[in-house]
Formats: sequence, C-alpha cells, structure tokens
Amino acid sequence: MRKKIVAGNWKMNKTLQEGTELGESINNYLKKHNPGQVEPVLCTPSIHLAAVTDIVDNNIIKTGAQNCSEKESGAYTGEISASMIKSAGATYVILGHSERRSYFMEDDDLLYNKTITALKNELKVIFCCGEVLKERENQNHFQIVRRQLETGLFNITDQQFLNVVIAYEPVWAIGTGVTATSQQAQEMHHFIRGLVEEKYGNTIAEDTTILYGGSCNAGNADELFSLPDVDGGLIGGASLKSDDFCKIIGSF
Ligand code: PEP
Repeated sequence: MRKKIVAGNWKMNKTLQEGTELGESINNYLKKHNPGQVEPVLCTPSIHLAAVTDIVDNNIIKTGAQNCSEKESGAYTGEISASMIKSAGATYVILGHSERRSYFMEDDDLLYNKTITALKNELKVIFCCGEVLKERENQNHFQIVRRQLETGLFNITDQQFLNVVIAYEPVWAIGTGVTATSQQAQEMHHFIRGLVEEKYGNTIAEDTTILYGGSCNAGNADELFSLPDVDGGLIGGASLKSDDFCKIIGSF
C-alpha cells in the first residue's frame, strides 16, 4: 500500500528551544486529532533532531534530517554522518533538495553516494528532484527530472528502493508562493511513477510515495493531495507554524 506522508522541511530556522516548542505543539495536536493513514515527518536542523525526536510520540510522528555526508565517518570537519542521524532517533533524511544542489553544488553522482550511505545506515531517503524555471520554459522539465532520478537514484537495488520516497519540487515553486497547477503536478508525478515502473516494475511503482513540494500550504494542500499520483507533500515555509502544518496533514 502506498504510504501518505506530509514532511516538514524546517530548513535553517528555529532555535533549539523554538524547535522543541514547535515539535511539542504539533505532537499535542496530533495526539488529539489522529492523522490516520498519514505519516507526519519533521525534518529539523540536525542539531535539533535528538530533542525533537524525544519530545514527539514516535508512533505518530517521525523525524528526519535535511542532509547527510556521503562518508561514513572520519576527518570531515563540520559534516554530519548518516549513523549520527540514525543514532539521534531519526527515520528519514532529505537528499537532493534544490538548495543543496544549487548553493552547495551537490551533483547527481554525489547524491547517489549520499543515498547509498543513508540507506546502508537504515535511514529512509526523501529524494528531491525538480526543474528550474528556465528548464520548464524550454520544455526540458521531463528530461531534467529523468536525468536526476536515473543518475542520482536509480542505480540502487529493488530492495533499497523500498526505503525511498521521491519528492517532486519544481524549483520555481519553492518559497515563491507560486504553486504548480494541479495539471502540472499530476502530469509530472505520473511521469515519475512511469520512470519508477520502467526501472523497478509495476508493483514497486504503484507502492512508491511521491510527494509534491513548492509553496504547498493550508489553502491548496487538499487540491494537490486529491490528485491520483500525489501522495503527500514536502512543506517548507508552512511547516514552521503548528496550525498550518497540522491543517495540511488534515487535508487528505
Ligand atoms: C521546500 O523547500 O522543500 C519547500 C517545499 O519550500 P516551500 O514550501 O516554502 O515552498
């Protein structure tokens, strides 16, 4: 069965105290209003992970990091390893977010290595893909997403792929207030599911969770989540307010 997920990407926001308060507030709401089939995930700054994981009910809410090193351990000052993230109690790690790709020059090969390391350490991967505006204007968006997935992700085994969630995030929609239309989102999600089917077969493709990300909020989530190939959202700005994030979770 395809899992529904709403994951908040807090990015580099919130002090430790603010972060634990946000986690606590989301937890209190969801303990009263059971999210049912939906798995809420809080992708916090790494330094908040252990505290937020401790404060939430892990039967209801999972936590995740926003990045990890491709290296296992060693002399890599400032890096955070997959095993550290796992040991903090996290379940997920986001890889390939467009901000990592553009500001930190993370390319497909590096992302493939990060994915392998994360999976080896028993983290689930939320693997992001998506085109920039120019690529869509030039009608290259399908080609770009195909390349990102085929090079950065699809060399893992069937067994490994079972622990992957794909997030389609058109870069022009991230943090801009401009959301993909229902038609644009459904068309790309359907395309992505088709790529998964080509590589891993129909059963795995049908069971793959594909999230939409890019200015998804409490006002538009229900429309996006009603699309047949959209299985939830990766939420940036709107995940920083407990009321908004909980409303999005309740949008299914
Ligand atoms: C994101 O950065 O993953 C994201 C979807 O951001 P926003 O919701 O703010 O567009």
